Amino acid sequence: MSIQASAPDAATTAVIEAEDAHVAHNYHPLPVVISRGEGAWVTDIEGKRYLDLLSAYSALNFGHGHPALLATAREQLDRLTLTSRAYHNDMLGPFAAALAELAGKDLVLPMNTGAEAVETAIKVARAWGYRVKGIPADAAQIVVANGNFHGRTTTIVGFSDDPTARSGFGPFAPGFVSVPYGDAAAIEAALTPETAAVLVEPIQGEAGVIIPPEGYLRAIREICTRHGVLFIADEIQSGLCRVGTTFACDREDVVPDMYVLGKALGGGIVPLSAVVADRDVLGVIRPGEHGSTFGGNPLAAAIGLRVVEMLSSGEFQQRGTALGEHLAAKLGDLVGHGVTSVRIAGLWAGIDIDPAVGTGREIAERLLARGVLAKDTHGQTLRIAPPLVVRATELDWAVEQLRVVLAA
Ligand SMILES: *Cc1c(COP(=O)(O)O)cnc(C)c1O
Repeated sequence: MSIQASAPDAATTAVIEAEDAHVAHNYHPLPVVISRGEGAWVTDIEGKRYLDLLSAYSALNFGHGHPALLATAREQLDRLTLTSRAYHNDMLGPFAAALAELAGKDLVLPMNTGAEAVETAIKVARAWGYRVKGIPADAAQIVVANGNFHGRTTTIVGFSDDPTARSGFGPFAPGFVSVPYGDAAAIEAALTPETAAVLVEPIQGEAGVIIPPEGYLRAIREICTRHGVLFIADEIQSGLCRVGTTFACDREDVVPDMYVLGKALGGGIVPLSAVVADRDVLGVIRPGEHGSTFGGNPLAAAIGLRVVEMLSSGEFQQRGTALGEHLAAKLGDLVGHGVTSVRIAGLWAGIDIDPAVGTGREIAERLLARGVLAKDTHGQTLRIAPPLVVRATELDWAVEQLRVVLAA
């Protein structure tokens, strides 16, 4: 595996310039143009291969082009792709039943992107607050955590504390209170009779794979139950075996009132998100109050059903756990050698780069030149989330490349 990339050639530069000419600059991609993917590996237009340690921010937990998922997608493409929910389709029910069973809940509300599912959870929580808890009209509050990332809609960025995400996009929707992440007492102190829900990521991904202190999720569960407040877990990135367990909440044997799922649920093929909850919560939504033209479409439902079946075998939980332990040991050896600290849960790591050796972006660019794709977040952190189909030897090779670029 001595795959070495050099500076981008003329063809790559031309493709990037053509893209830059017509695509809004809302991202700052690494200078590589991918044209094929298989498992944990991608190939660029120059024919160079790279190990993908980002997996589209965990949307590719099963890797690129997983044969079972492709077969399901192809079969469904030939049969039926979209009905809207003006009619029933024969895939939505089986998908919802399987996902509800996986999560141990009654009902599923399907959407497309993660941000839409978070918006759905907010609407459901507010409706539950008014119709079940008896909160006065338009007074419902939702408690969130500092450093959160829940998506890019105006309501969601309104309760972010990241200036890049929110500056210039107000005015924002009221009804959110933000408290320090990892501090359950701060959540309890923020509750009022108007609080409908607490919305947190069990592990904060975009913030740099921030793992809360042990007991945080259990404490939130206990506080929410005691105060009659819904616990909403945004498991869009942390869920579906990213951390070894099916959901990151499983790490503390905690069951939230609502799971918000997305990313890997669509198998890396289509956008598919969902809110999963019991009937006493999700049942508050009535016909006409919420929806999506594409939400619950038969193509996404067929793929989502296959994803849930794959998650039900236990294989990916086992891989995520075993490979995660392997990776943790390897990354731990880098601390003090260009790395100041590592946070890791399953196959998900935030690696803080010593500023003396470079920024997160610089390290990501040097890794690119050695055939490894990873992404920086918040300046000094390198965030990695390899597909769960990666091999231990491939992880070893990638960590070796990291060791080399840190020493350069
Ligand atoms: C990615 C992400 C979202 C948003 O999902 P999109 O599909 O990009 O809208 C929301 N919450 C978390 C925790 C995420 O990681």
